[in-house]
Amino acid sequence: MENIDWKSMSFGYKKTDYNVRCYYRNGAWGEIEVSSSEHIQLHIAATAIHYGQEAFEGLKAFMGQDGKIRVFRWKENAARMKRSAEGILMAEVPEELFGRAMEKAILLNKRFVPPYGTGASLYIRPLLLGTGAEVGVKPADEYLFMIFVTPVGPYFKEGFAPVDMLITPGIDRAAPLGTGHIKVGGNYAGSLTALKLAHDKGYASALFLDAKEKKYLDEAGPANLFGIKNNTFITPASPSILPSITNKSLQEIAMSMGMKVEVRPVPLEELSTFEEAGACGTAAVISPINRVVNDDTGELIEFCKDGKPGPISVKLYEKLIAIQTGDAPDDFGWVNMIG
Ligand SMILES: *Cc1c(COP(=O)(O)O)cnc(C)c1O
Repeated sequence: MENIDWKSMSFGYKKTDYNVRCYYRNGAWGEIEVSSSEHIQLHIAATAIHYGQEAFEGLKAFMGQDGKIRVFRWKENAARMKRSAEGILMAEVPEELFGRAMEKAILLNKRFVPPYGTGASLYIRPLLLGTGAEVGVKPADEYLFMIFVTPVGPYFKEGFAPVDMLITPGIDRAAPLGTGHIKVGGNYAGSLTALKLAHDKGYASALFLDAKEKKYLDEAGPANLFGIKNNTFITPASPSILPSITNKSLQEIAMSMGMKVEVRPVPLEELSTFEEAGACGTAAVISPINRVVNDDTGELIEFCKDGKPGPISVKLYEKLIAIQTGDAPDDFGWVNMIG
């Protein structure tokens, strides 16, 4: 095991020993190759760097108390990457190849899987790029699928602490019939100005409204939104939201705890009626929301009167983490052992 200060580790990139790569050429995927280089060589006319033919995924592996490495719902990520590829006309990565490459990337970097009890995990980043050279706008004929891993600390150094968010009605992240529902880099490029605005004003993240009517809640940059009221877990439905696997998992946990679940358009006015609100995604699992401010109107909504996360958010968070680390039984069949 590495001599790393796991507990004070940030959510950032740290070099590991190996990454894995697989090339799609002449209509077929090749063999998985192992590399110790942190760099890739790209043709200057590769479609990924000109026309945004790029999709990625993010998931985590955890060391259990039993010394076994667990990966959370990776088949969901493989399926989503397929949909992303389909959405921007890239070669699709078969689930079997995704799984094999992922297992290899984890096992080759086993010494970087943070020990049980540190709160840290091994972040897995699959990437799919158009590498074929084109100058006209069209899909590439060659692709690179690769996976690198990097150990990450808990998303919040301060612990599970509520954050403030800024609604940015003046900036959209994705259009309803665009690419918001798939995990492509272009969506992130489009969200950077809103994120910077939010950060500059002292907020943890930007919160986007639906791009068409500006009446409904969409999502929070790289995370979905949810609210809790009347023993119900409510999360926005919208064609421009990226379907979060964390969100889907929280819905199932909420149901198993006897809560109701509603996936439907959520009008902006409804936000103030929530007893608790949070953002959810792989990186932080849940970011409880303390305050939301509308950058246009200045309206402020407060959820955590005492600066503490709400009780249901805490319960959902703890249950999901317990399943991921193997502390709670895998009742939903979400966990795969590696190695
Ligand atoms: C990846 C992502 C999420 C979170 O999805 P998870 O599967 O829970 O990690 C939410 N929104 C956007 C825009 C994303 O790209």
